[in-house]
Amino acid sequence: MQTSAAVEVAGLVKRYGDKTAVDGLDLSVLRGTVTAFLGPNGAGKTTTIETCEGYRSPDAGTVRVLGLDPVADGAALRPRIGVMLQSGGIYPTARAEETLRHMATLHAHPLDVPSLVERLGLGSCGRTPYRRLSGGQQQRLALALALVGRPELVFLDEPTAGLDPQARHATWDLVRELRTDGVTVLLTTHAMDEAEELSDDVAIVDGGRVIAQGTPEELCKGGAENTLRFGGRPGLDLGSLLKALPAETVAVELSPGSYRLTGTVDPQLLATVTSWCAQNGVLPDRISVERRTLEDVFLELTGRELRS
Ligand code: ATP
Repeated sequence: MQTSAAVEVAGLVKRYGDKTAVDGLDLSVLRGTVTAFLGPNGAGKTTTIETCEGYRSPDAGTVRVLGLDPVADGAALRPRIGVMLQSGGIYPTARAEETLRHMATLHAHPLDVPSLVERLGLGSCGRTPYRRLSGGQQQRLALALALVGRPELVFLDEPTAGLDPQARHATWDLVRELRTDGVTVLLTTHAMDEAEELSDDVAIVDGGRVIAQGTPEELCKGGAENTLRFGGRPGLDLGSLLKALPAETVAVELSPGSYRLTGTVDPQLLATVTSWCAQNGVLPDRISVERRTLEDVFLELTGRELRS
C-alpha cells in the first residue's frame, strides 16, 4: 500500500564542516499537494531539498521520497522525480529545444516537447544556446526539463525568481495543472504571494528546522493580531481612542488622516472605534479590517527580512 506522504523527513541533520546547515528537520509532504518551503536566506531549504533529491547524504535522520531512500535507491527514484535547480546542470552551448528533446528521450512516457515549448514561451529561442538565453528563458527551460518526464513529484527551487509577470502567471498555471494531475510539488520561494496563491501547505524553516507548518489559512489565523485601517480628518486624538480600547492595541496615524490599529481586532473593537468616531464627530471615509498575511506571519516567526 502507498503511504500518503510523498516526502517524509525525520530528524535530518546536515553539516558542512563546523556549520550545521540542517539541524533536526522534520517535514512531511502529502501526495498530490503543493507545499511551499519558506525560510530566510541560509535557513537550510536548498540543503534539505538536495538531500531529498539524493545529491547529499544525511549526517543524521531519515529521508524517504516516494517511499525510497534517495541515495541508496537513487536509480529507481530519479525517473520518478523532476528537479528544477536554481542554476547549472545544463551545457552552456546546448540549444534549448535539443536539450529538452534529449531529456525527453531519457524517460519512458515524456510530455510532448513542442507543446511544452509553446506553453513556456520557449518557441522563439528553441535554437538559442543555453548561455545566450535570458535569465527568464533559462529559468523556463529549467522548469520544462523538470516536467518533461511526467514526474510523480517535482522539486522547484524558486521557480519564478526573475520572471516577468506573464511568465510568472504561466508558471503558476502549470503548477496548478500539476496538482490537478495528481503530481506532488515541493517548491521553495521567497515570494509570499506565490506561496499563498499556489500552496496547500506551507512549511517555514529557520535555523535548519521547520518552525511552523500548516495551510496558509491555518498559519495566518494562528494569532489574534489583525489590522484595522480607517480614514478621517487629520490629527485625531488617538490617545482618547486608545483609552476605550484593550491595552495591547496600537494606533498610528500613518499619513495625515490615515489611521491604523493593530491588536485583537474583533467585532467589539470595531464597534468601539465606530462609536468613538460618532462621539467625536468623525465620519470615517473608509474602514477596513485586514487579516494577517503569510508575509506578516513569516516575519513574526523568523524575525527577519525576507531577503536578508
Ligand atoms: P537561500 O534562501 O539563500 O537559497 P537556503 O535556505 O536554501 O538559503 P542553504 O543553501 O541550504 O540555505 O544553506 C544553509 C547554510 O549552509 C548556509 O549557512 C550556507 O552558507 C551553508 N552552506 C550551504 N551549502 C554549503 C556548502 N557546500 N559548504 C559550506 N556551507 C554551505
